[in-house]
Amino acid sequence: MSLRTKFMLALLLTGLAAVAMVGGLAYVGMTKKVDIIRRQSAANHFYEGMSSYLQKYGSWQAATAAEPFDSFMHSRQDAQRNRPPPPPEQDGEERPEPPPGEEPQRPGGGRPPPPRANGEPPFHFIVADEQFRVLLGAGAYRPGEVLPESARKDAHAVKVGDRVVAYVSPEGVFTPSKQEQQYIDAMREALLAGVTGAAALALVLGVLLSRGLSRKLSHLTSAVRAMHSGSLLQRVPVEGKDEVAALASAFNDMSEQLARSHEELKESHQTILAQAEQMRELSVRDALTKLHNRRHFDEQATTLFSHAVRHKRPLSVVIGDIDFFKRINDQFSHATGDAVLRQVGEILRSHMRLSDLVARYGGEEFVIAFPETELPQAAALCDKLRNMIEGFPWHEVHPDLKVTMSMGVYADLAAGTAEAMLQKADALLYRAKQTGRNRVCFA
Ligand code: GH3
Ligand code: MG
Ligand code: MG
Repeated sequence: MSLRTKFMLALLLTGLAAVAMVGGLAYVGMTKKVDIIRRQSAANHFYEGMSSYLQKYGSWQAATAAEPFDSFMHSRQDAQRNRPPPPPEQDGEERPEPPPGEEPQRPGGGRPPPPRANGEPPFHFIVADEQFRVLLGAGAYRPGEVLPESARKDAHAVKVGDRVVAYVSPEGVFTPSKQEQQYIDAMREALLAGVTGAAALALVLGVLLSRGLSRKLSHLTSAVRAMHSGSLLQRVPVEGKDEVAALASAFNDMSEQLARSHEELKESHQTILAQAEQMRELSVRDALTKLHNRRHFDEQATTLFSHAVRHKRPLSVVIGDIDFFKRINDQFSHATGDAVLRQVGEILRSHMRLSDLVARYGGEEFVIAFPETELPQAAALCDKLRNMIEGFPWHEVHPDLKVTMSMGVYADLAAGTAEAMLQKADALLYRAKQTGRNRVCFA
């Protein structure tokens, strides 16, 4: 069940429960109170009338012999109203003065009173003598019958002087008159209207409030989904100052912070990547000449060799060694030796193709791998390099400086490995050194 439906149901139930409780309690309470007031008023009226009746004649027997109770009550009422009495009725009933706003009541006794509009008198009273023998029975008891204990407890004593001459007791339950029934029906209708109104109000309020709530929550849901799919910076509207607004505001802060952290993380990740690349580059480079180092050459040469064998393509490897380098160091300085190494490295690097691999192999030794290059081309290229080294204006570094290089070139894949090819090239280098230096030997 959606939050919206739950919210509406809760409002509806609360509204209905409140109306039912208040309306129901008011209905029951008022009906009961009206009953009590009317019963009390009628009882007092009857008791006063009966007291006067018996006091006038001294006893029930004397009174009924002289004048019927009804007739006495009519005379009494007429005297109170100050108008001529109506013709007496011989039914032994009491007709009390109605309280303001109510129709006349008929507290009957002895035999049932004539029916009212709804068929029943509202109250009955029993009159019994001092021994609780029934004088007027309200239809429930016959004259002469002894009142049971249960009926005696509400009995009021009627005294003449100090002597109890009779007891008056109410009988039966409240039966509403037509007018009262209409009043009760009107109350019930008002209650029903209240329940309907409350239900409609609860529904309207439920729809309005839940619509607002679910709209705000759906903003948040969409924003969370967008964050989930990668857009970390989200903003939802913050409306009002309620808990949802606080949630939306906290969400905005969180999203902003997350996006910022993510950016910082991305930046630091980039820095780490760049540094890692730098480290990797440093790890494969020679610090002095900036050429690749021996480790890198060995790795790459193995790959180039495998590729050449697999595709039956040519590959030439070269090893070059500066002639009498120790003498250069000794004669000019170690720094001059370093400058020579850097310059030789630069000459080699600047004449390589992108696919060629050149490295400083250690000391004053350099190695080169020429993929896709047959021995003659490689030997010619090496001779060109040798020539360039020799022809470089070394006198600019030092007036007496002369630099040459001896080289060995090998191109037969049958050697079996790149390392074996390099050893063959080294042997050819040795031959070049042996045969006068500043030359290229190849095979
Ligand atoms: P050959 O013609 O037979 O190759 O003689 P050579 O003097 O070049 O050979 P040798 O191996 O005897 O000398 C190499 C020298 O290179 C020894 C060493 O001090 C020097 N050397 C090695 N690495 C460096 C370096 O990084 N800088 C400098 N300045 N000298 C270096
Ligand atoms: Mg050497
Ligand atoms: Mg040398």
